[in-house]
Amino acid sequence: MKRFIDLSHTIEHGMITYKGLPAPVICDYLSREDSKSVYAEGYEFQIGKIEMVSNTGTYLDTPFHRYENGKDLNELILEKLVDLEAITIQADYRKGIEIGKDFFVNRNLRAKAVLINTGWSTFWRTDTYFENHPFLTEEAAIYLRDQGVLLVGIDSHNIDDTRGKARPVHTTLLGAEILISEHLCNLDQLPENGFTFTAVPPKIKGMGTFPVRAFATLKQ
Ligand SMILES: [Zn+2]
Repeated sequence: MKRFIDLSHTIEHGMITYKGLPAPVICDYLSREDSKSVYAEGYEFQIGKIEMVSNTGTYLDTPFHRYENGKDLNELILEKLVDLEAITIQADYRKGIEIGKDFFVNRNLRAKAVLINTGWSTFWRTDTYFENHPFLTEEAAIYLRDQGVLLVGIDSHNIDDTRGKARPVHTTLLGAEILISEHLCNLDQLPENGFTFTAVPPKIKGMGTFPVRAFATLKQ
């Protein structure tokens, strides 16, 4: 038997994910009422429409997000997205928002999805979420890159420190084709290891970021 833990936030009309970026607009393209004139008696359907920026909800960053010639969503292979062996790193925001290399040393990181549980997702959809959030240091990103991780996920507003304008963690990880997943949730429900991580975006050309249904699979 497998057990799944959903690590994704729900995307809703009017919901702001990232400060300064617009909320999604979710509406009918074809309403049930209007569809009645299109189909035979007794049939009705709804066709929805969503207008949103790519950085909405729980999402995945690919190299194209940072680099013009980096791999986009369309170029990702499923081997890097599905059932990745994963580990959880505990980095409680109440003990400090700067997550350095020390959190990762002496852990078996090679070819793993590394999920960082900061607890910050408890502030999702509050003003607190957007500022002074937990982030990785550049040194930590370089260490993770050098250890050969496949993906780094975090339950924070950004994996980089957003108090300045540089983004060294995105630069380091995406520059090495290491995927990033931000705005995860429920990481407190994960064991330290012995589970896999899956986060698959749609196959879109010319886009570098998109919402994912991220989840963990626990082997019972
Ligand atoms: Zn990002």
